[in-house]
Amino acid sequence: MTERTLIIIKPDAINRTIIGEIVHRFERKGMKIIGMKMAHLEESVLEEHYAHLKDKPFFPGIVKFMRSCPSLLLVLEGNDVINVTRMMAGETHGSKALPGTIRGDYSLSNQCNAVHASDSAESAEKEIKRFFKDDEIFEYRRIDTEMIYAEDER
Ligand code: ADP
Repeated sequence: MTERTLIIIKPDAINRTIIGEIVHRFERKGMKIIGMKMAHLEESVLEEHYAHLKDKPFFPGIVKFMRSCPSLLLVLEGNDVINVTRMMAGETHGSKALPGTIRGDYSLSNQCNAVHASDSAESAEKEIKRFFKDDEIFEYRRIDTEMIYAEDER
């Protein structure tokens, strides 16, 4: 089933200049990027986004980390994209995530784990609304390359 999900490429990945590598993985898998922007996330938004962790001792650390520099936000569309991006992200803690997953390949940390991916259809809907306005999401058809070449020849 075609779904949409929210991905955050987090500050550690921005600092390590691996944005392209991560986006490339989603594109290669066949997912369609229908929204993409950089944003320096505000404390109030992060408190809402991570509200389920507010009683954890590491909560202030997450907010500080996520405020340390801008993040890259993506809305991805594709078949079963919520489940598939969670599998591609790997387990939360970088040291436990399997090699081959994004966290498994790029992180050894509990906190600085390169990406966020919505964990359910309900979260995805809420999170896309949290970070994107309606006019920042683009509905389009991918153009067949043969059509592009045909235009070329004219
Ligand atoms: P996920 O991001 O895999 O959905 P959670 O919602 O449990 O996992 O956690 C949100 C984020 O909080 C994690 O991605 C990570 O950045 C941070 N985090 C989770 N557990 C810890 C921890 N034990 N210590 C520090 N940061 C953590």
